[in-house]
Amino acid sequence: MSDINSDLVLFNELVEVLINEEKKHPVADRIDSNKLYDSIDLSLNASAMVDEDFKSVLKDVLVSTPKTATNLFFNQLFGGRQSKAVLGDLLAVLLNNSMYTYKVAGPQVGIEQEIIRQSCAIIGYGSQSNGTFPTGGSMSNYMALVMARDAKDTKCRLEGMSKPMVIYTSKESHYSNAKNASFAGIGRNNIRYIQADSEGRMIPTNLEQQIITDLREGFVPTYVNATAGTTVLGAFDPIDKIANITEKYGIWLHVDGAYCGSVIFSDTFKHLVNGIERSDSFSYNAHKMLGTPLTCSILLVNDKKMLHDSFSNEADYLYQTDGDDFNLGKTSFQCGRRNDALKFWTLWKSVGTNGLKHLIDQQFELADIAREYVKSNPDYTLYSFEDSISICFNYKNIDPTTLCTALYENQITVVGFGAFEDNTFVRLVTINANNEKHDILNFFKVIEEFVEKTPHLTRVEVGV
Ligand SMILES: *Cc1c(COP(=O)(O)O)cnc(C)c1O
Repeated sequence: MSDINSDLVLFNELVEVLINEEKKHPVADRIDSNKLYDSIDLSLNASAMVDEDFKSVLKDVLVSTPKTATNLFFNQLFGGRQSKAVLGDLLAVLLNNSMYTYKVAGPQVGIEQEIIRQSCAIIGYGSQSNGTFPTGGSMSNYMALVMARDAKDTKCRLEGMSKPMVIYTSKESHYSNAKNASFAGIGRNNIRYIQADSEGRMIPTNLEQQIITDLREGFVPTYVNATAGTTVLGAFDPIDKIANITEKYGIWLHVDGAYCGSVIFSDTFKHLVNGIERSDSFSYNAHKMLGTPLTCSILLVNDKKMLHDSFSNEADYLYQTDGDDFNLGKTSFQCGRRNDALKFWTLWKSVGTNGLKHLIDQQFELADIAREYVKSNPDYTLYSFEDSISICFNYKNIDPTTLCTALYENQITVVGFGAFEDNTFVRLVTINANNEKHDILNFFKVIEEFVEKTPHLTRVEVGV
């Protein structure tokens, strides 16, 4: 058994190994999944492990784990490392509070509430607004849907579903919408997927037409999930126009900003969510554009009563002191809840709101650089649009799935592919605000060099 002091010494040693490794090998040596258990000793045994062996196995695990903080990781909608946020998260682990009551979380409650209050003020929600930190963007969508359902049928909480509810989202929205419809008792078949325009944005007139049809057929339109930054193209649904419709028909409007909702921190890009103050709820993931460690998702609600009505439950053994405003378990999904707020707060506190703006603006600038590069080079085809940090492209008509897999298997760079309408393409995401212009240009260079050296990559007809 060892004490925390010696483990912190070990921690520092391991961190040094990791940071050096990231510099030397920005893409981890890939272990074939079939050989995983033969390559590293992951086994759990009856006997204790001696310290030196323990350290050595930890090093093996660290160096072979995919490196998401380096300048060659572009695979998902997160990346990089904001060190002040890492600091906050390390402290949260050491403190190990649970966010349900003031009694056990103390000032951490104020930290979470300050982030929520400031965020509500930035988007223009009123004095009755509040929010919570769900486990992620999928859970934020789920909690919004449950509030919408309960708002439409106040008896639902007690008696279960009694109305034929239908909900709306665009074809390009996040897949959690389908799962959530099933969890919430609405049913996957009762989602209406609204057509998106040629740039991936929900078409408001199609939404209204569908609502009119549903009303005529006796369905109960309950919820619209609009997206601020669709997962593949990074497109922004027109919130103002959608709000005109949800207000007219009395439907809950949730804006899923998991990917790009953090544009609210930049006066340059905030116009992409014009009308956000008219929504009933809004969520954004600080672990995506703001670079905090996973997970850090913020759900804001225009009327906090809705959050309370859907998620509170009396529990005498838990809520023994202080009021509801300080006992955050009254508005959360979980009981025990990890402190996801502190890491965002340490980041925000240290760089200020201006610093958050800089993180956002930097990503759009990197996106412009990437888009320009693709546009000005005839070997590339571009599939994405302005005002997006997803740069979708194909190179020399090489099948993007083959290319991305080959880049990964050869430890060149980690990037994924996506599809929109009939096209499949490589999706470069410029979400790591620590990157600079040369990192983006280097990404293209390593791809080009790899293709040059790998002549057998299959070509397909793309862009037809
Ligand atoms: C990432 C994403 C989600 C899911 O968020 P998680 O935190 O991964 O659950 C939801 N919606 C959109 C638009 C996303 O990009």
